[in-house]
Amino acid sequence: MTKINTVLGPIDPESLGLTLPHEHIVAAYPGWECDPLARQYNQEKIVNSCMKNIEPVKQYGVKTIIDVTPVDLSRNVDVMKDISEKLQLHIVCATGRYTEAEGKWIYFKRRANVKIGDIKTEVYEGFMQEINYGIGQTGIKPGVIKVATGLSRIAPCEETTLRAAAQASRETGIPITTHTEDGTMGPEQADLLIGEGVKPQKITIGHMCGNASLDYQLDVLKRGVYIAFDRFGIEMKMTDLTRISTLLALLQKGYANRIMISHDCIAAVYGRGGRMPMEDAIKFKNWSFTNIFTNILPALKTAGVSDEQIKTMMVENPQRFLSGT
Ligand SMILES: [Zn+2]
Repeated sequence: MTKINTVLGPIDPESLGLTLPHEHIVAAYPGWECDPLARQYNQEKIVNSCMKNIEPVKQYGVKTIIDVTPVDLSRNVDVMKDISEKLQLHIVCATGRYTEAEGKWIYFKRRANVKIGDIKTEVYEGFMQEINYGIGQTGIKPGVIKVATGLSRIAPCEETTLRAAAQASRETGIPITTHTEDGTMGPEQADLLIGEGVKPQKITIGHMCGNASLDYQLDVLKRGVYIAFDRFGIEMKMTDLTRISTLLALLQKGYANRIMISHDCIAAVYGRGGRMPMEDAIKFKNWSFTNIFTNILPALKTAGVSDEQIKTMMVENPQRFLSGT
């Protein structure tokens, strides 16, 4: 039986239980580390503030969080490990890279420019290093590979990453989870990965709830992959009400066994801190690690979604996806 890598070591898939499949413990966009006014790194403070945000999930029975932070968005497995121990929650971390526009690519691009190495090989080697030997000196191994594409196109570094991820996934069995931008490029991501030999059941196309078109949803689903409605609470561009109605339409068509749900929440960020203007902040008022339990599931149940369907989305699908069965 395949074991699942968590930040505290491998576990049986059946131990995963109720799972939030797309969240972030710590994440930050590149550049904060060059800000002289950024708050000083203090692991204890970060862990404490993460715990405050994450601990409430335990009362709803959550057993596992998948942290899909790619390495270039300040993934921090030391913090994950500390939280996993203190809260007795499984945390699965990722190896992976972010979009060409918002990730850290200049290092690989420069190396490629002067013909020291090619990007695909070096990214692939990085994935394999972390999968086989662990992240840095921690010995912590990832349970998923994260890839990302930008708005309405797959940029060259992104295509390279998808192909490198496919190769690493094929060779190690580790599944792939994706970031799409505003509900675009889902079918193209799936085609590229499947074309590279990854089995559809080892692929989750992320942020699908950013697109309310049923045609788009079905176009992705017909490829046999999992999809994630994983931004409940981020109502900047899409309201939860719209996400729910798209989700209900798919559940009515019998797709419970292909859908996972999550928040894309971030427990702590680096940098200066600060507040957004009230008119924007209001669009994030429900963005927390418990929004699904306090707002989304009650709405789904009122609309007739069964406990069985919810269990399929929140327990069985993450387990099948992570174990690749
Ligand atoms: Zn995310």
